[in-house]
Amino acid sequence: MDYINKFRVKPGSKIKLSAIDAGFKDQHESHEHAMPEIEAYSKKMQELQYLMYAEGKRSLLICLQGRDAAGKDGTINHVLSSMNPQGCTVTGFKVPSKEEAAHHFLWRYQQKTPQVGQVGIFNRSHYEDVLVVRVHNLVPKKVWSERYEHINNFEKLLHDNGTHILKFYLHIDPEEQLERFKQRIVDPARHWKISDGDYAERPFWDEYSKAFEDALDKCSTEHAPWFVIPSNHKWFRNLAISRIVAETLESLDMKFPEPTVDIGEIKQKYHAIVEEEAEAHKQTQAAEPQAAEQEPGKKKHKKDKNKKDKKK
Ligand code: AMP
Ligand code: MG
Repeated sequence: MDYINKFRVKPGSKIKLSAIDAGFKDQHESHEHAMPEIEAYSKKMQELQYLMYAEGKRSLLICLQGRDAAGKDGTINHVLSSMNPQGCTVTGFKVPSKEEAAHHFLWRYQQKTPQVGQVGIFNRSHYEDVLVVRVHNLVPKKVWSERYEHINNFEKLLHDNGTHILKFYLHIDPEEQLERFKQRIVDPARHWKISDGDYAERPFWDEYSKAFEDALDKCSTEHAPWFVIPSNHKWFRNLAISRIVAETLESLDMKFPEPTVDIGEIKQKYHAIVEEEAEAHKQTQAAEPQAAEQEPGKKKHKKDKNKKDKKK
């Protein structure tokens, strides 16, 4: 199955989230069954991220959106565990600070976009400004309804400057959300994650669905696609995302840069003697094993000879 094609929101389509199965798991019976595939795509993602870092020509921006407990943190944990931390930055966006709120809505996101060679991950993103802001009427309708166009223009600008954008909506159903809240209560190590806000948002489920659907419909473009990822099964979510990231990076046809030095010259200058010695050592060992033990003495002799040569 082609995951990019299956989960991508086609530009101009009309999404109905309640009609999409959040428990989808393809042909996999269980996490164990999917494990080899998850590991293979993680490895691929790691190699390609290294290549992007080395190439230093473009960047990747991953935006994660979803309801509370949809698994944004867990996804980041999984994706990051297979990437080199030197080439990654993660930014979480919360209620805007006073300074952030005193600028236009894209200001704070713009500053955190990845530089060339880097992967940037947004834990929540500029879409909050047409989600929570819209559901709770934090600005007038006239203001948020113009933001879709601003967002598309912003993403086009990033794209034209070499940033590849992938946006993932982590799709869970209301039953799964409640189950995850319950698990947080049972597990003391997750108590810190519980907030009144999570429960306060649940009655707005349908309003959020409408807001998410509009964002997906209006802002899934060829250059910055949205993907709706079935996320009731955390392992399937990880599999789908790592596969889409790996396949996207692969399609970029990246290349290691040409070396900035003459490798032949460097080899000759710094490695020729080492290679000669290794070859001589190999030949002596093959001819008479005992002679190999005398090798250190031989080396010394050679160095002494060099010294003598220098004195001359
Ligand atoms: P969390 O991700 O659980 O730490 O929560 C962050 C909170 O910040 C969520 O309730 C978001 O809805 C809220 N938030 C993020 N961005 C914005 C924004 N632009 N305006 C208002 N609230 C926001
Ligand atoms: Mg939260």
